Amino acid sequence: MADWMQVDLHIHTALSPCADEEMTPWNIVRMAQLEGLKVIAVTDHNTIANAWAVIEVGKKLGLTVLPGMEVQTREEVHLLGIFPTLEQASAFQEVIWSHLPDKPNHPEIFGEQILYDSSDRPIGTVERLLLQSVLLGVEEVGAAIAAHGGLTIAAHVNRRSYSLISQLAMVPEGLRLDAVEIDRSLSYQRFIEKYGELSCYPILCSSDAHRLTDLVGSYRPWLLLDEASFAALKELLLSDDCSRIRFR
Ligand SMILES: [Zn+2]
Ligand SMILES: [Zn+2]
Repeated sequence: MADWMQVDLHIHTALSPCADEEMTPWNIVRMAQLEGLKVIAVTDHNTIANAWAVIEVGKKLGLTVLPGMEVQTREEVHLLGIFPTLEQASAFQEVIWSHLPDKPNHPEIFGEQILYDSSDRPIGTVERLLLQSVLLGVEEVGAAIAAHGGLTIAAHVNRRSYSLISQLAMVPEGLRLDAVEIDRSLSYQRFIEKYGELSCYPILCSSDAHRLTDLVGSYRPWLLLDEASFAALKELLLSDDCSRIRFR
């Protein structure tokens, strides 16, 4: 039966160099459950390598966790790809990895890129710098997400950097978006006043959490979903029924 739920489709783990070490699989899932979230997505910069561990913890504790990625395109636009399965996300990862320049990370400057297992044990680090642009444009990235069965969401569109609006001032004709995400610092009302031309898309707000306290708050909308799953989320976003997304 359909029910009103809150979801968070933009959460970084400690694998993102800019995220805190406390962003471990167990901490993220437990905090999401304390917040009452029914679906979360793990979206590290240009990688899905920690998603499996968070998914495993979600299975143990009863939370739907989707594999995702925050891709930084050639234009320095951040796009979220949210995938139904780890297999599809992994195939998409291969595309991104083959277009990510082989520059090393400098942890002392950018931060550590830590891999965790599903018991919260650090099991290594990623050597290649994750926080950089892939050699693909927004339309190419959007097409690749769709080709791997994913949903494409323009991240924090109202931000002054790394957003579709800051970099391109518009949605390119060849980019199919399933939703746009408002930065949590802006209210839905203010967003619509300022960016009315984007109101034709489903509007979401997620945390873009880099530390656990980012997950706390009432900024997320309520979604009327048939169940806590990727399929139900996709059905809602494709339904064109804005009355099923409510900001309070
Ligand atoms: Zn971003
Ligand atoms: Zn982010």
